[in-house]
Amino acid sequence: MTSIVLFGPPGAGKGTQAARITDSTGLPQVSTGDMLRAAVKNGTDTGIAAKQYMDDGKLVPDSIIIDLIKERILESDAKNGVMFDGFPRTVPQAEALADITEVTHVIAIEVPDERIVERICGRYSCATCGAVYHDSFNPTKLDGVCDECGGSDMKRRADDNESTVLQRLSAYHEQTSPLADWYESKGIFHRINGDRGIDEITSDILQALS
Ligand code: ADP
Ligand code: ADP
Ligand code: ZN
Repeated sequence: MTSIVLFGPPGAGKGTQAARITDSTGLPQVSTGDMLRAAVKNGTDTGIAAKQYMDDGKLVPDSIIIDLIKERILESDAKNGVMFDGFPRTVPQAEALADITEVTHVIAIEVPDERIVERICGRYSCATCGAVYHDSFNPTKLDGVCDECGGSDMKRRADDNESTVLQRLSAYHEQTSPLADWYESKGIFHRINGDRGIDEITSDILQALS
């Protein structure tokens, strides 16, 4: 069984790489950010509780996140392992995960802070299939048309603006980056230079997983 954690600051390329790793490993992508956005959209209790934290660029409380993951891991597609994207983000979340399932690889995608704002502020995605693009670094081949599904409904996230990004980046440095030491001490931590082309990064990740 393989369970992967994709680790890194907002905009590092976790979602972009997750889609590619899913294609080659068959592991389902479990993104707490996507699950929370769905909960907000559907107006569930979880969504109502999480919304203000997300709008402010702050981390949603651990108890909410851990409950979401406990439920998700019970689904049948998760029985042979999962690829976590954007989870865990605090030491208590990592401890809770260790009680639920064994993590075999942590893939840390490293991108310097000064690149993050341009990555996030140029991000858009396909509302139909979720494929992620960038205005300058990874645009659709045809303007406004999704390469993956041909859909033409593109959207931008409400929290992908400069002031919220700076808050998310500081949450990352204060609450999430200490997890690197926690995982490094377990010998499962792989550092990947994320400040390169998307294909080069994918090939390094697949090598770390092999
Ligand atoms: P995360 O899931 O870590 O927040 P995303 O995968 O959504 O990050 O990527 C953030 C933005 O940066 C997107 O617009 C994406 O198209 C773009 N991007 C992803 N990887 C790269 C890369 N290696 N170089 C340049 N831009 C990238
Ligand atoms: P990004 O990778 O661009 O930061 P995500 O989609 O992973 O974006 O997360 C969006 C927001 O959802 C975060 O700013 C935070 O408010 C919340 N969130 C997502 N995952 C977690 C988590 N594991 N713990 C706490 N909050 C989370
Ligand atoms: Zn699409």
